[in-house]
Amino acid sequence: MNSRVKKGRTSKPSPIRHGGLFISFEGIEGSGKSTQCQVLAQFLKDSGFRVIETREPGGTSIAEHIRDLFLQTKTTPGESLTPETEASLVFAARSQHVASLLLPALQNGEVVLCDRFSDSTLAYQGYGRGLNISKLQGYNRFITQGLTPDMTFLFDLPVQQGLARRRKGPNQNRIDQEALAFHARVRNGFLELARKYPRRITIINAHRSATAISHQIQTLMEPVLKRRLRNNKFQNSPR
Ligand code: ADP
Repeated sequence: MNSRVKKGRTSKPSPIRHGGLFISFEGIEGSGKSTQCQVLAQFLKDSGFRVIETREPGGTSIAEHIRDLFLQTKTTPGESLTPETEASLVFAARSQHVASLLLPALQNGEVVLCDRFSDSTLAYQGYGRGLNISKLQGYNRFITQGLTPDMTFLFDLPVQQGLARRRKGPNQNRIDQEALAFHARVRNGFLELARKYPRRITIINAHRSATAISHQIQTLMEPVLKRRLRNNKFQNSPR
């Protein structure tokens, strides 16, 4: 098992040129990513930006079918998904997502907010399941065509707190039901990625009110949005 991340790989600017802004939301289950993704999307739309809100695995019709297979709790007796199958399903869904939704939107100059992206594969299938990180990074580059988020918000809180939030909800998926030790490896994996790529990944203390977190994110976004506005990018016609 190789638990080291190859330095510099995913922190390189995306080799794909696009006029959009690609922001990913990462973190363990129940860290509040989806909530904040929705709040930021609304804030940006209210400010006149063209925004696409999407998620992984999923985001397109085919990728959402793959998501169902990935997250389903019922498995054939005596057979469970191998870590390699799990990674392959995530990559298949991401390939569809990148080609059919993310790249066209970014090349059209839109702001794309994505609930999970490549860091989740390294954290869950790499650090969590123990698959070789360099191999995951290599395959990820192949299926994403090198697309990398411009900014990543990593929502961090103790795993027990995240899982407690999730378990209040109605549906438990296959990943929610994993052991605490698995989720702890995933959390540590995310934190190691944040240490490796500090310019791209911002750690957000997720153990605060949703309002406090959304204010922090809007403050962090301010200079980026101002710069883009000066270049007259992303906005709908002025109101
Ligand atoms: P994730 O997408 O990271 O799994 P969600 O955004 O779906 O997390 O949030 C999981 C649960 O926690 C939801 O019930 C949500 O309403 C709640 N929640 C989200 N943010 C907070 C917060 N800052 N404090 C307390 N509960 C929260």
